[in-house]
Amino acid sequence: MVVKNGGKCRSVDDMGKLRCKCGYVMSDVSSPNVFQNWMVSDFQLENLPDELDSGDIMDNSTEVWKCCECGRLTFIEDNFVVNVYKLEEVWEDGVQRK
Ligand SMILES: [Zn+2]
Repeated sequence: MVVKNGGKCRSVDDMGKLRCKCGYVMSDVSSPNVFQNWMVSDFQLENLPDELDSGDIMDNSTEVWKCCECGRLTFIEDNFVVNVYKLEEVWEDGVQRK
């Protein structure tokens, strides 16, 4: 357990791994990988240069890991978990699957 700002939160370990609340272990060792996503807010979008590279996107976005097992979204800041969202619904072709 890692302590940050007086509170307890999990972090991405030195091996680039993060254990989801469901137990599945995600890793960013390979690049690209299926877990990491980069979410750009409307304000962050305004800061992006006209010609992009991957560093521009990573510097102006929020890192979000998606678990392949349960679909939880884990928001990361400076390698620390700040929020975890659990999947509530799954829709495919207009039909609710979950
Ligand atoms: Zn999971």
